[in-house]
Amino acid sequence: MARKFNFNPGPATLPLEVLEELQKNVVDYNSIGMSVLEISHRSKEFEEILSTTKSLFRELMVIPEDYEILFLGGGASLQFAMIPMNLLNSGGKADYIITGSWSEKALKEAKLLGQPVIAATTEDEKFRRIPKPEEIKLSKDAAYVHLTSNNTIFGTQWASFPETNGIPLIADMSSDILSRRVDVKKFGLIYAGAQKNLGPAGVTVVIIKKDLAERCPETVPTMLRYKTHIEDNSLYNTPPVFAVYAVKLVLEWVKRQGGVEKVEEINKKKGGLLYQAINESSGFYRSTVDADSRSLMNVTFRLPDEDLEKKFVQEATAAGLHGLKGHRSVGGIRASIYNAFPLEGVARLVDFMKEFVKTNQ
Ligand SMILES: *Cc1c(COP(=O)(O)O)cnc(C)c1O
Repeated sequence: MARKFNFNPGPATLPLEVLEELQKNVVDYNSIGMSVLEISHRSKEFEEILSTTKSLFRELMVIPEDYEILFLGGGASLQFAMIPMNLLNSGGKADYIITGSWSEKALKEAKLLGQPVIAATTEDEKFRRIPKPEEIKLSKDAAYVHLTSNNTIFGTQWASFPETNGIPLIADMSSDILSRRVDVKKFGLIYAGAQKNLGPAGVTVVIIKKDLAERCPETVPTMLRYKTHIEDNSLYNTPPVFAVYAVKLVLEWVKRQGGVEKVEEINKKKGGLLYQAINESSGFYRSTVDADSRSLMNVTFRLPDEDLEKKFVQEATAAGLHGLKGHRSVGGIRASIYNAFPLEGVARLVDFMKEFVKTNQ
């Protein structure tokens, strides 16, 4: 197989080792004569998968015991609604920091259920940066503060998180979970759709401080309460068995790489190479993001004009560099280089970029 370098933003590239392990177990899981797709979610096999996946998360992210790790359906997008459902007692207030389309979508759901307040936004500057600490106006009576740690579309990432003075901080980490060390104790809740840094689509990981789940109003349907899933260890209904299994293999892969610290080091190297190539292009490539807000997961940039951008994407695709077109809402180029994206592929893109400048400026 001629495997492409896949810069897709999500679903995104997975480690080849993980795909090969999945392939084996799709037919015969651990030689039990059944596929991993066929086992019961209440079997001892899945019990082992679930408990190993949880303990790997705990170990890799250093998650304290007063937090629960949940595996839910519905994508990160369902969390936009579940969070205010569970935490905003009808009409309650919450602070939202707006740094792009995903935080706007989260805000939209909160408006249906309570009174969210925009604590900061960089919309006026087309989301080219993360707000500075002094620009964030937190409410004293907010139930929580919500932010998006990495903005997949705009290519920005929080370098450090704001101090919320005891108010639970909630982060959508869909596109940078496990890409760097994070102090989980600073957060009330962290959530992430798996399809960027954790595995295939179909499962959403929620790391929640258990006492927060107690705030849920009685009127919230059973399936939509965090409390339900905490009490039933993500087995209230049939969880996405296969996706959880794939996440387990990805976590084992992260551990083999040397854990989050090592992965973070490699991510810095990968992002560094790309930003350096942009900086050294004498203005041919222009970053769409301020230097202090640049994402190590989604590197976004523009070329001198849209025709050249089209040509860039076409020729890159022909050279085996797939998925570089920017999000349809912003245009330009976006290289998504999550944990599983190899350093070698970044080096190939950098070479391609240098060659492209030579022939097109
Ligand atoms: C992709 C993405 C989402 C949406 O995830 P779904 O699982 O498709 O609902 C939400 N937030 C961020 C930051 C994302 O990158």
